Amino acid sequence: MPGFELFGPEEQKEVKDVMEQGFTFRYNFDAMRNGHWKARDMEQMLQEKMGVKHAHLLSSGTAALQTALAASGIGAGDEVIVPPFTFVASVEAVIMAGAVPVFAEIDETLCLSPEGIKAAITPRTRAVNLVHMCGSMAKMDEIKAICKEHDLVLMEDACQAIGGSYKGQMLGSIGDVGCFSFDSVKTITCGEGGAVITNNEAIYNHSHMFTDHGHDHVGSDRGAESHPIMGLNFRISEMNAAVGVAQLRKLDKIVEIQRRNKKLIKSAMADIADISFREIPDESGDSAGFLSFMLPTEARAVEINQKLAENGVDGCFYWYVNNWHYLKNWSHIQNLKSPAKLAIELLPERPDYTQVSTPKSDAIMSRTISMLIKLSWSEEEIAQRIENIKKAFA
Ligand SMILES: *Cc1c(COP(=O)(O)O)cnc(C)c1O
Repeated sequence: MPGFELFGPEEQKEVKDVMEQGFTFRYNFDAMRNGHWKARDMEQMLQEKMGVKHAHLLSSGTAALQTALAASGIGAGDEVIVPPFTFVASVEAVIMAGAVPVFAEIDETLCLSPEGIKAAITPRTRAVNLVHMCGSMAKMDEIKAICKEHDLVLMEDACQAIGGSYKGQMLGSIGDVGCFSFDSVKTITCGEGGAVITNNEAIYNHSHMFTDHGHDHVGSDRGAESHPIMGLNFRISEMNAAVGVAQLRKLDKIVEIQRRNKKLIKSAMADIADISFREIPDESGDSAGFLSFMLPTEARAVEINQKLAENGVDGCFYWYVNNWHYLKNWSHIQNLKSPAKLAIELLPERPDYTQVSTPKSDAIMSRTISMLIKLSWSEEEIAQRIENIKKAFA
């Protein structure tokens, strides 16, 4: 998965380009930049790649989530349905927006399930933060229909699934607003960076304004611009965008390598009796950044995770005990630990997050192991890996 495995002269050239012009700001400086626009170029490329009207590049995936929430009108007291299996940012962004995360169950897609979402809807629900975990997608048709029926904003966090698609539509482009991360370990990277994509003009306009103190970005005199809203600074620098331009050009190749490597390992594992694979609603659209599978019991998963490590199979994740990816281990979130008082503490009806229970998700995640699919593996390394996996199961 990590795009940094393919760093080469292409990324160096783009960064050098920025340094040679002598500026790193993404807006204005028209006279200095001699027509070089890295953030703008990457946005154009993302729009084309994702088949959407608008893309806005910003400083991180976390900033993308916060921006998507604000730009979609989600704020104080609004309930947002989130999964218990995700990166903590999906939940932090909701809390920092003054909104209320409501945990719902996942299914064997490892993403929020349609039934789980339905069961979590209340009169205060305003949005679903759907996370396409570990490279593959949720049951989008059903989830889209539920969001439509209940008039909910459908956000797609595709930070771990860029390049994947569902029935021909790119992940991130299916809901009202999609988020990507280009941090240093993601499928493609800017060093640090992220993006919001949407077909909704109001969400786009609020996004670029929100990430730049409300600037409307009309005209070429920054000082004379008006600011219809307040915002913050979630801007990306041209240095980071330059890396991303070169990486985005490699996305098709990266996904192709992931799919080839994953297929070799997955088919070699298909005859292992006691595993089942994660459900993938549209297998042809799998970005293939991870291979995830379930063991029959928690005890067996713990044992296999140990055996995989002992046999030198690196890049395996038993998420159920992982501090950053599963609700059960997030004591700081359960106890709303923050340096300052949070808006959510003013809400009498907030859930007690120490008492949240997601038994269906526990039953799935306690049996699930994911393997990272790397880009740099040689054929020999893959063959060796398969042999080591078989030894672990023997
Ligand atoms: C990485 C990630 C984020 C956050 O992205 P950053 O760029 O690191 O802020 C959010 N959601 C998911 C699912 C992620 O994997």
